[in-house]
Amino acid sequence: MLDSGVLRSVMLAASRSPGIRRMVEGSRLTAPIVGRFVAGTTVDEVVAVARRIATDRLVTIDYLGEDVGDKAQVEVGVAAYLTLLRRLGEEGLAERVEVSVKLSALGQSLPTDPDKIALHAARQICEGAEAVGTTVTVDMEDHTTTDATLATVRDLRADYPWVGAVLQSQLRRTEADCRDLAGPGSRVRLCKGAYDEPAAVAFRRREDVDASFVRCLKVLMAGSGLPMVATHDPRLVAIARFLADRNARTTDRYELQMLHGVRPRAQVALAAEGQTVRVYLPYGTQWFGYFMRRLGERPANLAFLARSLVSRG
Ligand SMILES: Cc1cc2nc3c(=O)[nH]c(=O)nc-3n(C[C@H](O)[C@H](O)[C@H](O)COP(=O)(O)OP(=O)(O)OC[C@H]3O[C@@H](n4cnc5c(N)ncnc54)[C@H](O)[C@@H]3O)c2cc1C
Repeated sequence: MLDSGVLRSVMLAASRSPGIRRMVEGSRLTAPIVGRFVAGTTVDEVVAVARRIATDRLVTIDYLGEDVGDKAQVEVGVAAYLTLLRRLGEEGLAERVEVSVKLSALGQSLPTDPDKIALHAARQICEGAEAVGTTVTVDMEDHTTTDATLATVRDLRADYPWVGAVLQSQLRRTEADCRDLAGPGSRVRLCKGAYDEPAAVAFRRREDVDASFVRCLKVLMAGSGLPMVATHDPRLVAIARFLADRNARTTDRYELQMLHGVRPRAQVALAAEGQTVRVYLPYGTQWFGYFMRRLGERPANLAFLARSLVSRG
């Protein structure tokens, strides 16, 4: 049996291979498992899924894409977000559905002026969100981008104080970042972190990542922002609820967040218990990197993929 850390490293390495990308993207056989995590490729498709989920949960829509190669692609991404936001407004969904953005999809990985380009693009998306009355959360990518991403969030918050930040408990720095970001009104999504990080900057053992998650939760729950607890780990969800209670936080003062397609029954059950549950819902044609990270998180996902290939082959 493949160790879960090894599986994750293998899948993340595979996600950087153009050959594997062509094979996975080109195969009709992967469609069923991709469809479990990704809500289609068009705005119509994602809005239909969001509408269904929003009956009992909140939603964060992500237009898939990362590491764009030129400014034209950044403009395509911004236009896609603005179209999506207008639709959310027209369909009366903006109160329950926000958007998430990856700065590498907005130019943060371009060779010249990356932070300025990404900030400008993110501002345009924030303007569109404000116009329809919803919010934006800035996803966190690998550790080489943490400082730049947090700086961009700080800049955006000067005009749009509701912009959400994301912190990853696997990084050694994160407890300190939580202290910096636990102030009034600060929306902070805490997750374990989906990237394969070196031991110099990150905890590598699951127990250490989880212990860091709890320390970070303690800081965020005791603070005066809005903790957004992004994990499917039942133990951490229970600890989050306990800490919320201990800090006299009612269910409108924190969120439990999960990914579309992961523990859907738990999502519905938590919402039925009165918890505020938000589902991260990605869509678009650039699903490969996101999909590979999800496969690497659970050996059973790979087995599911293998079964679907065999039974259709
Ligand atoms: C709302 C949300 C937003 C996120 N945003 C970011 C971000 O901006 N940056 C970032 O680096 N990471 C992000 N992540 C991903 C996160 O960092 C983890 O990689 C991912 O959530 C798995 O960690 P876990 O906390 O669920 O714990 P794990 O210990 O990985 O999983 C706990 C249990 O959850 C279930 N589970 C977890 N993942 C899967 C899966 N893929 N398929 C099936 N079952 C699964 C399994 O039952 C597993 O035993 C986000 C996650 C969520 C929920």
